[in-house]
Amino acid sequence: MKPVNILDTQSFRPERMAVVDAVKELIERSHPPQPITVNDFGCWRHPMWRDPENRLQPFLSVDWYLANAWDQERQQVNGNTLMDTIVSEPWRREDVIGDHYDIFVVDQDLYAHERPTSEDFIVGIARPAIGTVVSTYRLESLSDPFFLLKTIIMHEMCHVFGTPDRKRDDVDRQAHGVHCTNRCIMRFPAKTPQDWERFTEDRFLVGPLCINCSEDLWRHFHGGRKRHER
Ligand SMILES: [Zn+2]
Ligand SMILES: [Zn+2]
Repeated sequence: MKPVNILDTQSFRPERMAVVDAVKELIERSHPPQPITVNDFGCWRHPMWRDPENRLQPFLSVDWYLANAWDQERQQVNGNTLMDTIVSEPWRREDVIGDHYDIFVVDQDLYAHERPTSEDFIVGIARPAIGTVVSTYRLESLSDPFFLLKTIIMHEMCHVFGTPDRKRDDVDRQAHGVHCTNRCIMRFPAKTPQDWERFTEDRFLVGPLCINCSEDLWRHFHGGRKRHER
């Protein structure tokens, strides 16, 4: 089973456990046949991250990924660029579309081109089988961002794990991705933070995923088999 690697632009983040917690809860719910390792690398820097002239070296630090995706004009991180960089990591084994999943947490504001929402920012972008980039910037003013961040990470990682399945009848297939139409954290979040607050309340009241999304998540980790075919 591919491990999940967590990278963060901050070396200390009070709500950091929310990220690890979110992944662990998804893994627990999907009962993978073998354990999945979660590596929290934090603000990762390879010993050779800068050259003798002090320049950032490609792929060798969180700092480089961030600088490479930084949009000076908008003062925001370009989520598409960061996602593309993650996809093109030289150590990704091409034959298996990557041998790990990435969660890249940034504290800067984030945007994406192909997400025509009413807002000029996003809190997360995900690519199936590869990973997600999540920004905590819009959560900073909230009194308790822990639970919201956990919901956001769970939502984005479900996209990474192919949930919801786009072939289902009860999904909404838009430019911003496939979303569930049931009472579920995989609904489309049109407004931040209001929708995330609603999803978080529901997560505590009825659980994070509807029956069909739980089934999709289970199937992702069991070679496409249905749960009752066990
Ligand atoms: Zn989504
Ligand atoms: Zn659902």
